[in-house]
Amino acid sequence: MNIKERTKNFPQRPGVYLFKGLRGEILYVGKAKNLRKRVGSYFRSSGDDRPQIYFLIAKTRSVDFIVTDSEKEALLLESTLIKKHKPRYNIELKDDKSHLYIRIGMEHPFPGISVTRRPKKEGAKYFGPYDSAAAAREAVEQITRFFQIRSCTDREFANRVRACLKHDIGRCSAPCVKKISQDEYALHLSDVASFLSGKKKYLVGMLKKRMSDASAKMDYEEAARCRDAIGMISDALERQNVIRHGSSDNDAIAMESEGSDCIISVMEVRSGAISGQRNYHLKCGVQDAPEVLRDFLLQRYVEGSFIPVKAIMESAPADRSLVEKIVSDRSGKKFSISIPKKGAAHRILMLALENAREFLRFKLMRKEDDAVFEKLSKKLALISPIQKIECVDISNTGGREAVGAIVSFLHGEPDKKNYRIFNIRTLTTPDDYAMMYEVIKRRYAENVEREMPDILLVDGGRGQLATAMRAVEELGLSLPLAAIAKGKKDDEPDQIFIPGRMNPVNIKAKSKELLLLMKVRDEAHRFAISAHRRRRDKKSFGK
Ligand code: SF4
Repeated sequence: MNIKERTKNFPQRPGVYLFKGLRGEILYVGKAKNLRKRVGSYFRSSGDDRPQIYFLIAKTRSVDFIVTDSEKEALLLESTLIKKHKPRYNIELKDDKSHLYIRIGMEHPFPGISVTRRPKKEGAKYFGPYDSAAAAREAVEQITRFFQIRSCTDREFANRVRACLKHDIGRCSAPCVKKISQDEYALHLSDVASFLSGKKKYLVGMLKKRMSDASAKMDYEEAARCRDAIGMISDALERQNVIRHGSSDNDAIAMESEGSDCIISVMEVRSGAISGQRNYHLKCGVQDAPEVLRDFLLQRYVEGSFIPVKAIMESAPADRSLVEKIVSDRSGKKFSISIPKKGAAHRILMLALENAREFLRFKLMRKEDDAVFEKLSKKLALISPIQKIECVDISNTGGREAVGAIVSFLHGEPDKKNYRIFNIRTLTTPDDYAMMYEVIKRRYAENVEREMPDILLVDGGRGQLATAMRAVEELGLSLPLAAIAKGKKDDEPDQIFIPGRMNPVNIKAKSKELLLLMKVRDEAHRFAISAHRRRRDKKSFGK
């Protein structure tokens, strides 16, 4: 019995269906109110004629299903299965930023604050996501300073007999040695929650009241703490975008797509002011726009941390009321989807749309570059696409005033803050190999903890490559290497050598991949020569 025949026997019940490929891999997960009807529609000639469906069906070797009690349950299961199996024909949700959250471990009587990349479904509260480790750290810094929340681990807390330095420098109220009561500490924590949820105006009001109460009770220490916290929050409020968009917490969500690339841009409005913006890059599979929006909302809110009261959108997602219900259940308060045509909400939506358009334009531009990096990675036998390239070159005059230069390129562009110059210490005779060995050892020995390049390029042929391999091996690093040598004749293209291969790598002359490596090498050459000249001039003229 072929697949089409088999689907005629599917139950007429709600559930989730899974399209599987030759090796049983899951290609697509969908949900249905009526499994037989929905799955059968894929195989009817009058069914879905989107081109992606054609490819999906061509690759499908079997279809499985899971019956659920309700459509709502099917929707939740679908979302879980997509997250788990990442089927290639479903949308692939990729955030353009790495996720960092501030965690407050509520399971402890005196909860501490920390930064994490992995929110878990335990009793903790999570705030964020934050764009960078620096932004999250700054928030923790402010919180410990103005709200006196502990940042030690639970184990440190349990083992203290005296307060630590953080208390001495005014960064912790020292609950470990009972310098603050549990109730008072809980009050500080609720301020932190208001602060991190963007409810700054409300918090200022609360702190002002508490400051005057503390003054009345002659608790000047507490009054001063409140005053400092008010100052810090007011500064933050001033720096914040002051355009008002109502007074509640909303997300304005706009989508823009081209081909299979789709960007969803979210403007986060908290207490009426824009507090952040995030872009998500999706690889759209067989779903149409309303289905993509539905899956996006479920992924963002059912598994995310903060749920606003409203999602402002240009058009309704599929299963709108079901999504509203599921998200409301998860949030514990009413969540609704609104589609404004004018007014403040519409304006903020247009802003999100503008962002989505810009970001998509940017992504499409980058796509061409990404293809070059991917091709180059394959040519150089790397397992992951190249993003960061460093290149080393040596310059000297007969071994004197020798310098080694390392340049760094990120996404094909010079990353000048990571350029380095090394004055050669060990040699005054012309031995480029030994100089390169010294430079590589110094550069990477001192930076073992830092982010390494995806590949280190050396200027030269097999000899230079062997020297670099020795240095890297002695450092115990697994740093990928390649060497770039000038063609033997003027009209011959440059040659690329990699470890474990006698012949040069087959890269076409004038290909974008080769031109990129030449650009990096030429920049290393230029940088080395100018550093060498400076050193030489300094010596000649005693500058
Ligand atoms: S003072 Fe106590 S509670 Fe505060 S950070 Fe130090 S050890 Fe932790």
